[in-house]
Amino acid sequence: MWTGVSGTLLVPATLGTLQRTSTTSACSSSDGINSICFNQNDPGFTLGVLAFTRVISADTVGEQLSSTTTPSTFVGQILDADVLLLPGNANTTFATPAALPSNPNSYDLESILTHELGHTFGFNHSGVWNAMMFLYAPPPGQMTGTRPTTATPDAPLADDDRTGLRILYPNASDSVHIGTIGGRVLPANPLALPASPAGVTGIFPSQVVALDNATGAVIAATLAGWSCRGQGPAQFDGSFSLQRLMVGTSQSYRIYAEPLDGPVVLGSVIYNMTSLCRNASTDPGWPAPYACTVPAPAAPFSARLKPGS
Ligand SMILES: [Zn+2]
Repeated sequence: MWTGVSGTLLVPATLGTLQRTSTTSACSSSDGINSICFNQNDPGFTLGVLAFTRVISADTVGEQLSSTTTPSTFVGQILDADVLLLPGNANTTFATPAALPSNPNSYDLESILTHELGHTFGFNHSGVWNAMMFLYAPPPGQMTGTRPTTATPDAPLADDDRTGLRILYPNASDSVHIGTIGGRVLPANPLALPASPAGVTGIFPSQVVALDNATGAVIAATLAGWSCRGQGPAQFDGSFSLQRLMVGTSQSYRIYAEPLDGPVVLGSVIYNMTSLCRNASTDPGWPAPYACTVPAPAAPFSARLKPGS
């Protein structure tokens, strides 16, 4: 499904062959092999979690998980990604599409695995409800998308997923999805900005959504609120950037911003805020000029959008 999207370099030939393993700890070790493990007991299964993906990415060039794994060639490179599924129990079972009709109380295994594989490809969660990367699985017996077919292998994905994949794995020869809309989300009343930490000049966080002007369909959404321009720490200036949008003479978009005040909240989309703002207490050794403090989430808000990059 993820290898059938136009305008990306992620194609079936990119992926290795799927193999079975008898290793019992395939999903609990950082072995550099991407594994899918069923019936896992793991502390990561907090209440309501059906499945999750543990992703380890490189902080530096040349980082190695062990002496037998290949060193990273760029910062952010995924070194190991393992998908873990909850053990079945009286309340939670999974079923393949073929088995779903006779097991109507089971979760749809195909769409859950598609979501988790999205994490292995580098996706965070999306706040777009019909996106494959939306953080909540549909209730048992349901799925939100369409089943893939040979003719439409990416059918279960939403446009928000496709846009994200084009950003993660761009095809340089794609001349269609090359539009960017950027700007800042600012409070209607500047006095609504938090007094601390100092230097907060825009709303943090919000979800900024691009709708196709003609159809009203959601094409892409992004988490807005900061930028990493130039040297130094992240600037909380309300910035957003919607990238890899389709361009054309009859193509236009409407943009809106909404608070992350539920059901999607900031913690649903970014689990590790220290990756955004490092400081001496959370990451000893991090240079002080690059340290920052994440402001408390602003919600609700009255906003105005300021175009510009
Ligand atoms: Zn997820």
